[in-house]
Amino acid sequence: KKSPLDKIITYTNQLTLSHKQSMFSVEYAALNYIAPNKTQYAYKMEGYDQDWNDVGSQRKATYTNLPAGDYTFKVKATDLNGNWYLHPATIALTIRPPFYRTTLAYIIYVLIILSVIFFLRKMEIKKMKRKNKIKLERAQVKKEHAFYKQKIDFFTSMAHEIRTPLSLIIAPLEKLIQSNHWRPKIKEQLTIMEDNSNRLLMLTNQLLDFRKMESDVYEIQQERIEIVSLVHQIFSRFSSISYKKGIKYAISSHLESQEIEADPEALTKILSNLLINAFKFTRSRVEVRINKPYTHKGKHYFSISIEDDGIGIPKKELSEVFKKFYQVSSGAHEYHNLGGNGIGLALAKSLTEKHEGSLSIESKENIKTIFTVHLPFTPSKEQPTSAILSKEETEEEKDKQYAMIVEDDVSLLDFISKNIEDEGFAVIKAKNGKDAMQQLEKEDIKIIISDVMMPEMDGLALCQRIKENTNYSHIPVILLTARTNMEVEIEGIENGADAYITKPFKWKHVMAIVNNLLTSREQLKQKFSQYPFEEPGSLVTNIGDKKFVNQVTDLIMEHLDDPQFSVTELSNELAMSRSNLHKKLKAISGHVPNKFIRLIRLKHAAKLLLQKEYSIAEIGYMTGFNSPSYFSKCFNLQFKLTPKEFVKKENQKSNS
Ligand code: ATP
Ligand code: MG
Repeated sequence: KKSPLDKIITYTNQLTLSHKQSMFSVEYAALNYIAPNKTQYAYKMEGYDQDWNDVGSQRKATYTNLPAGDYTFKVKATDLNGNWYLHPATIALTIRPPFYRTTLAYIIYVLIILSVIFFLRKMEIKKMKRKNKIKLERAQVKKEHAFYKQKIDFFTSMAHEIRTPLSLIIAPLEKLIQSNHWRPKIKEQLTIMEDNSNRLLMLTNQLLDFRKMESDVYEIQQERIEIVSLVHQIFSRFSSISYKKGIKYAISSHLESQEIEADPEALTKILSNLLINAFKFTRSRVEVRINKPYTHKGKHYFSISIEDDGIGIPKKELSEVFKKFYQVSSGAHEYHNLGGNGIGLALAKSLTEKHEGSLSIESKENIKTIFTVHLPFTPSKEQPTSAILSKEETEEEKDKQYAMIVEDDVSLLDFISKNIEDEGFAVIKAKNGKDAMQQLEKEDIKIIISDVMMPEMDGLALCQRIKENTNYSHIPVILLTARTNMEVEIEGIENGADAYITKPFKWKHVMAIVNNLLTSREQLKQKFSQYPFEEPGSLVTNIGDKKFVNQVTDLIMEHLDDPQFSVTELSNELAMSRSNLHKKLKAISGHVPNKFIRLIRLKHAAKLLLQKEYSIAEIGYMTGFNSPSYFSKCFNLQFKLTPKEFVKKENQKSNS
């Protein structure tokens, strides 16, 4: 039976709706004109409804928010008798999805997600790469550092080893040159030998310096020097190189002379390094210029330039060359690998900076390079005359000063002896510690210079013996060692050595230490004689001598009021021979025993005077003077004041 519904619905059988129409209705009607109200309907949205919706005579189906998709809307009706027509009317219905849910959209989504993943991954890889690179770099730096340390360690120990034999070449050579009977030709050769061994020494020292600089313990020793002649001296060291290489080598100066405060050793190192570089890279000309001094920010500066016409340094690397181990590798340098370690300039720079100066550089590639050292200085004033006077005064002392040199190496022994003789000392030579001990008695020795490594008795043992023996413990001992070895040094100092010199040494250095030791002792003695309250203990530094001085002072104090107390008694009580006591007291205090006893009496008298418990006359008797007038006379002679004046002065002092 044909459904009357067919007739209604034929006008369309396909419907497409956009998702935006969230609500829509379908109206339907059966062609039943007799009793339209009797017609019953049921519809079903296939794909959405599970069952038929029986809706009675309602002729409208409303749907809201149907998800996108294909549906078939079916509706069926009853006939007058209430029987369902078998064939429902259908209409195909498509609800189009929104754009974001279309296939295209999904493709886009997938693409976006894929690209994001790709991007993230790439980022991560990049990050990882960077991390690895840093890690690698760090490892490399570490490795380089370790390698560098190894290298430096190796060179340092080599340098140490080389220094000893080298000093044994230099010292006899110096001696050879000094004995003036050479023909000029031979002398010239000897000088070349000396120059070059000095250069070798400089190189080894440079390595050691570099090591020291790295550990920041290096300190320069500034003194007032005449720099123009020093520069000339350094300049001339290189003339043989220039001659050999056929390089024009010149020096020009704006100054006749100039005094500045500087460390000559350090300056030599700085300039030598610059000159070595200049000779390394130049084509035909090296020039040293001593420039006009200038002022900058109120400070006076002295400057020296070293110019060469070599391959120069590329602009972008100018600031790098002062870095440790930096060697230019671009430009013409690519074809000029001339060896080296790249520490020369780093060392020169830090040495200049220790002088509060600076090292500047100027370069035109393939044309020239100029390095300039700038050093601050204070313009010289007139020397005060008093300094000269006091020097004359000390030279009055006519006693022959004996120095003992202990050294197993004959040539070094001769060398030191000769030089110290030139300084006005009489010399006693000893081959080793044992020999030295035996000879100690001979003379009143002022100073001992001893090697450390010797057969029979080494320097440390000798030093210990000397310092343990009251007769000799006051004699300053300088030890010479081949190594800058802390342990030996500490051991030596524990054994009472007064100073330390490492081989190879400069003679100037040795003399500076000798003079320093002797003058500081002289000053102590003077202070002790001049000032009433300076205690005898201040005269000495080592424990043995302190004990001795205290013992002597105590004995004198015990016999203070006894004018008859004599040197013989004192030496008996000390269990010491008169001559030894004489030597010892003279060496320590600068006074013979008689005078020393009197000085102790006078010092005690000064203390009593201050207490104001006794009269001057009483005090004179109490301190062992036979008469008040003799006491006053002695007091005046010693302290340049009468007891009365002394009391007055001290009162004024305490009042003010
Ligand atoms: P070292 O001095 O330790 O034996 P080095 O000479 O290579 O080695 P530095 O003196 O520190 O090391 O110099 C560093 C670098 O600077 C040199 O390798 C060189 O490339 C460059 N350089 C230095 N002086 C000059 C110069 N006068 N002309 C051109 N390049 C120079
Ligand atoms: Mg160099």
